[in-house]
Amino acid sequence: MATSLETKEEPSLEARTARLWKHLQEALDADELENCMRCGFCQPACPTFQETGYEAASPRGRIALMKAVKDGFLVPDEAFRSQLDLCLGCRACEPACPSGVRYGRLLEQAREALAAHAPTPWPIRLARKVVFAGVFPHPRRLQRLGRLLRFYQTSGLQRVVRKSGLLRLLPAHLRDMEAVLPVPSPRGVVETIGTRIPAKGAPVATVGLFRGCVMDVLYTETNVNLARLLSEAGFEVIIPPEQTCCGALHAHTGDTALARQLARRNIAAFRRAGVDFVVLAAGGCGAMLQEYAHLLPDDEGARWMGERVRDASQLLASCGRPLPLGRVEATVTYQDSCHLRNVMGVHREVRQLLSSIPGVTFRELPEADRCCGSAGVYNLTQPEMAGRILERKMGHVARLSPDLVATGNPGCLLQMQLGLHRAGLDGAVRAMHWVDVVAEALDAAPR
Ligand code: SF4
Ligand code: SF4
Repeated sequence: MATSLETKEEPSLEARTARLWKHLQEALDADELENCMRCGFCQPACPTFQETGYEAASPRGRIALMKAVKDGFLVPDEAFRSQLDLCLGCRACEPACPSGVRYGRLLEQAREALAAHAPTPWPIRLARKVVFAGVFPHPRRLQRLGRLLRFYQTSGLQRVVRKSGLLRLLPAHLRDMEAVLPVPSPRGVVETIGTRIPAKGAPVATVGLFRGCVMDVLYTETNVNLARLLSEAGFEVIIPPEQTCCGALHAHTGDTALARQLARRNIAAFRRAGVDFVVLAAGGCGAMLQEYAHLLPDDEGARWMGERVRDASQLLASCGRPLPLGRVEATVTYQDSCHLRNVMGVHREVRQLLSSIPGVTFRELPEADRCCGSAGVYNLTQPEMAGRILERKMGHVARLSPDLVATGNPGCLLQMQLGLHRAGLDGAVRAMHWVDVVAEALDAAPR
């Protein structure tokens, strides 16, 4: 009989690999793998293929690796894992695929198996436990963390730490991140404007605003502006306070069980609110909410949610009353959010809104449809590739020389701020959420 002093033996590498192999063979969808006809149309759309030129770092290559594992020809070893880790999960390969291969599903199935069996470096394990499970699902804890960051940035501590040279102990990408993190607001959107904002004039519809987790702490003002724009366009805005993180980061890093829990909490919160639409301005979260039915296939509420999710640009561009916009004299460009574009299929609406602002000259950013390298936590876990992708993006920005780069997702916005800082462009080019640009125009309107 085992005593309390005996420790459980770690399984050997061979035993772990055998379990992983079995899990992958059961989890990977055979039909989806068979759908790939190896045409390679997806390759030009793939940023990691573009950067490396390696077949294995392309969608077709990764699908071939997964199929070989499923068919029993390839051991899921470290090389297999590293090619999947290198994938941004941007899903630019999906709209490019004539066979309609749902690559994102295959990637999620593989990542869930890898997270369950493959050894994970301790910093990533710790981050998952402390940040993903311990903080993101708890808005109050996230706000406390935001207040700590605000104290660090505004009390003079940041200056002392920078002068002391302590930051040199951090890897370069984390040092750069420290330099560009915005000052969090002391309060979230609910604490700032309440849970119900009436429509201006006759109501067009009632919308439930999804505030997001990082968005609500780092970019509270954007959520406040979003509620203002929606109200101005005729929407009654309800912000259910019991909502939580969308679960995208959890699902994309293999923690599907926690992603399901979060999805159930959000569905219940928005159903109770009885809204016509669930609206947000965070592409990554929007795509996740829209795909809850895939996460919870037998849940009627998940389908209810999926049918109602809209990016705010969709409602403002076509369903609400036109916004009274004043002049903003600026040359503006726009970086797509991958999930907004590739999963939700939204790309015209934001361009349309920005172009409708009097005084704005809208100029298309070359390769705006390519990922910026942010991709959830990719810029932290794969800093080398994320840096290469971002540098290419900033080359396009420098040549275009706009006054501001707008984006539609908090992760992309932070990445743009990081890129501009690294390229020495942060004095010349502003990075802004498109909501804040439109809100600036609303404020400039003659009253
Ligand atoms: S485009 Fe689609 S079918 Fe063609 S190789 Fe890529 S995933 Fe396979
Ligand atoms: S998700 Fe993005 S990085 Fe991954 S294979 Fe598809 S296009 Fe390439």
